[in-house]
Amino acid sequence: MKYRKLKGVQDILPPDISVWQFIEEKARKIFRSYGYREIRLPIMESTDVFIRSIGETSDIVEKEMYTFKDKGDRSITLRPEGTAPFVRAYIENHLNNEPAPQKYYYMGPMFRYERPQANRYRQFYQIGAEAMGIDDPKLDAEIISMLSLILEAVGLKGLNFEITSIGCKECRPDYIKALKDFLEDKMLDFCSDCGRRFKTNPLRVLDCKVPGCVKAKKGSPPVVDYLCKDCGDHFDQLKNNLNRLNVPHTINPNLVRGLDYYTKTAFEVSSENLGSQSAVAAGGRYDGMVKEFGGPATPGIGFAIGMERIIPLIKDSLETTDGPELYICPLGNEAAEEALRIAEQLRAKGRWVEVNYDNTSIRSQMRKANKINAKNVIVLGDDELKNRKVTIKNMGSKDEEIVDLVINEYHKLIQSGK
Ligand code: ATP
Ligand code: MG
Repeated sequence: MKYRKLKGVQDILPPDISVWQFIEEKARKIFRSYGYREIRLPIMESTDVFIRSIGETSDIVEKEMYTFKDKGDRSITLRPEGTAPFVRAYIENHLNNEPAPQKYYYMGPMFRYERPQANRYRQFYQIGAEAMGIDDPKLDAEIISMLSLILEAVGLKGLNFEITSIGCKECRPDYIKALKDFLEDKMLDFCSDCGRRFKTNPLRVLDCKVPGCVKAKKGSPPVVDYLCKDCGDHFDQLKNNLNRLNVPHTINPNLVRGLDYYTKTAFEVSSENLGSQSAVAAGGRYDGMVKEFGGPATPGIGFAIGMERIIPLIKDSLETTDGPELYICPLGNEAAEEALRIAEQLRAKGRWVEVNYDNTSIRSQMRKANKINAKNVIVLGDDELKNRKVTIKNMGSKDEEIVDLVINEYHKLIQSGK
C-alpha cells in the first residue's frame, strides 16, 4: 500500500457516519430552538488571529498550531479552534449591528499538532456556539443549559459539569500575584514547561497534569476567592440561575482553560466513561476579545463540543444498519431495463431503491440483497413482465405478497411499513 493517512487523522466512513449525522441533527434542532444560526468560516486564517487571542504563551500557540507560509509568503494557520476566527468574522461582517444577543453555531474540523492517542487527534471536529452582545449572567446560564440539553439529547450519561469564574482584567492581577507568591518556593518541583510558565503565564501552571506539578500546586489559592465585586456577583447569579434551571454542576475553583481570552465564566464538561482524555466540551466568556481585535467593546460567551470524544460513548447504543427499502432482482436484460424504470419512479417519490445489475442467478442476487440490508425484495422475470404482477418479499418477516406491477402498489407497500 503506497499511501496512508497522516498520523492523527481519521477517515470517517459509513456506517459510523450515521452517528456523526445523528449528533449534528440533534444539535441543529436544539440550536434552532435557542435562536442560534449556522455560520461556516474558513479553515485557515492569518496566524495573527490566533496568536493575539489564544495567547502567545498558550500550549496551542507554542506547540500545537499547523502554521505554514503560503506561496505569497503569508503566515497561515489551520484553525486550532473556532472562537478566534468567529470574532474576526464578527467584526469584519459588522455582525454587532444585528440585535443582541447575536447567536451563531458552527460545525467543522480543527487542527492541532498534538501527540495522537485515544480520542485525541490532529484533525478533530467541534460543534461550537457563540453568543454576543449581552453580559448578563442569565445568558451564561442559558448557554450552559443548552449545552447540557444537546449532550443529553445525543444520549450521554455520567457527565460532570464544572464551572468557575476566572475573573477579569481588574481582579486577575491580584489573583496572579497571590498564585505566584504561593508557587514561588515550589518551583524546583515543577516540570520544565511549568518553570517557564511560572514566569510567562502562571495561570497555566494550574492546567499542568504532570504528577510533580499536580502535587506541588496542591493547596494553591482558589481564583474564586479573588474576584472583584462585579465578577463575584456575576458568578453568584450564574450559580443561582443554573440551580433554578436544574442544570447539575459542580464548582471547580482550580479549573483553568488553555486559552488566554476567557473572562469571568469558564466551564468544562467531562465524562466518567472516557479515559484520560475526558473533556467532552468546554467554553467560557470572553468579554474583552472583540475590543482586543479592534472591534467595538462587545461581550461574548461560547463553547465547543469535541465530536470524537462523544462518538465512542454513544456509538454502541445507536442502530446504524441501514439499507434500501426496495431491492429489485431482474432476470435478463429486458427485466433489468424495466427494473431501472421502476426504480427511477420510486426514487422520484423519495424511496431508497436499488437494482441488481450483476445479471446473475436469483440465489446470488438474494444473497446480495441480504448483505446490503434490503427491507423488501422483488424478482422481475419474464412471467412477471408478462402478467404485470410481482411478489414482494419482506426480508425481515419473510412475508410475501403479490402486487400489480404498478409503481403506486410498491409505494403503498413500502409506505405501510412492509
Ligand atoms: P484537552 O484538555 O482534552 O486537551 P482542550 O482544553 O485543549 O482539551 P478545548 O480547546 O477547550 O480543549 O476544546 C474543546 C473540546 O474539543 C475539548 O473539550 C475536547 O472535547 C475537544 N478537543 C480538543 N482537542 C482535541 C483533540 N486533539 N482531539 C479531539 N478532540 C479535542
Ligand atoms: Mg488541549
